[in-house]
Amino acid sequence: MTTWGRDRLLPDLSVRLPIPDLRPWLEGNVLPGVWSFSAAEPGPHVALVSLMHGNEIAGALLLARWLRQELRPVRGRLTFIFANTAAFARFDPADPTISRFIDEDLNRVWDDRLLASARRSAELDRARALRPLMDEVDVLLDLHSMLWPSDPLIIAGAAPAARALGVRLGTPALVVADHGHQTGLRLIDSPVFAARPALLVEGGPHWEQATLETLESCATALLRDTGVIAAEGPPRTPGRLAEVTRTVVAGTHNFAFVQDFRGGTVIPRRNTLLALDGEQEIRTPHDDCLLIMPSPRALRGHTAVRLARYTGN
Ligand SMILES: [Zn+2]
Repeated sequence: MTTWGRDRLLPDLSVRLPIPDLRPWLEGNVLPGVWSFSAAEPGPHVALVSLMHGNEIAGALLLARWLRQELRPVRGRLTFIFANTAAFARFDPADPTISRFIDEDLNRVWDDRLLASARRSAELDRARALRPLMDEVDVLLDLHSMLWPSDPLIIAGAAPAARALGVRLGTPALVVADHGHQTGLRLIDSPVFAARPALLVEGGPHWEQATLETLESCATALLRDTGVIAAEGPPRTPGRLAEVTRTVVAGTHNFAFVQDFRGGTVIPRRNTLLALDGEQEIRTPHDDCLLIMPSPRALRGHTAVRLARYTGN
């Protein structure tokens, strides 16, 4: 049997996007790296987040362009956030994965008890600076991209309002309702967003033009849906909701998939072998098992893949 070990499968590390010039935007008008604009007309406060991971430059390219073009809300409030600018400052196209964060993953620190603790890190400090703003946000979209081959998708977390919004946006078409990661709370999992919709979009491979286009169509759909910009164009086709049935966490240092599975693949039969985790076999728990973002190099204790099933939505 073939296993795709750590030495065999490598992600594509070519950077095919320009590096965003964020110098005009680092200062911000409400917080460092945060720009917020209010319309005269009342409406929801929509926040778009980029650079939650410092090397995911597609979202930053989009927000920098919209700031340059002076995109403003016609109602409500629109906020642009460049989250981990400190990590982004280290972005090096020759080694584009190292600038994901400085000390720890900024998208695992949004537990209010952790933020209230005495522990310090570059990311905790940044999250503490951003956290009060989140109380003012009605709808949030966090723009991400992926290292490993996968179809784009929206992650909605557990809140029903977020699931419904993700399906309504329809771009990208796959909406995954999950229950987060055991390694810490993402921003969309923050208790702030228990009753207010927060979505995370994975637009595609980190450094591809198509990823930028996917993030733009998703964010545009959100701004139109909320009425923050004028609704134009044909009605959108709703997306398809899939619910995570199992989160597979690597339990050993030797987790290996039996094939180089692409995210978005549906495995038709239950009990199909997916991976070996040391001695343990990881098999599909049910028919029509959707693979969400398989991560061939998952470290012990980290999510290796999420398994999901399309719901009837
Ligand atoms: Zn990310």
